[in-house]
Amino acid sequence: MFGSRRKLRRKHPHPVGPDWCILGWLASLRLEHALRRQMAPDHWMRGKSWSAFAHDTKQDAVLYLAADGEAALVHLTWMRERTKDCPSATSFKTLDDALHDIADAIESGSNPIYCPVCKSDWSLDEFDPGCFCCGGGALVRDCPVCDGRCGAEFRRAILDSQDSGEAHWNGSCLSKDPFVPN
Ligand SMILES: [Zn+2]
Ligand SMILES: [Zn+2]
Repeated sequence: MFGSRRKLRRKHPHPVGPDWCILGWLASLRLEHALRRQMAPDHWMRGKSWSAFAHDTKQDAVLYLAADGEAALVHLTWMRERTKDCPSATSFKTLDDALHDIADAIESGSNPIYCPVCKSDWSLDEFDPGCFCCGGGALVRDCPVCDGRCGAEFRRAILDSQDSGEAHWNGSCLSKDPFVPN
């Protein structure tokens, strides 16, 4: 499997979508090291040697391959994890299974989008009313300026929200005087 890595690279120049890139050897080493550091002591991926193959830069997900052909999609947390299932990782029998699954998720738009603070899954319309980063909605919310009276919908600026840890919304209030109830 390791010997065929170069072949794989040629076969899948962009294996799963525009945010994914196939890793060069230096980036692979870095992400293999990161995985070893982050896996909890009793994580299921321990006991096998994993080689990093591709990286989704937007979601910080990495596709790893084992010598026996098993593939694992891992969401790195950049912490030294202590709980058994962290970092979260999905196992696939083969690389092709993993690539199909990722491609399906991208196509159906079912890639989870998490709040970085409370971990609500915004793509499932979850949010925590007390969370500053959720800011009163998931991916869409009523106008926050006039408290929804104008009927406008605001859309979350996902990357800005995730990067800053505060809610960022795109939209404009339709009310002439947003602070006076109609
Ligand atoms: Zn939140
Ligand atoms: Zn409004």
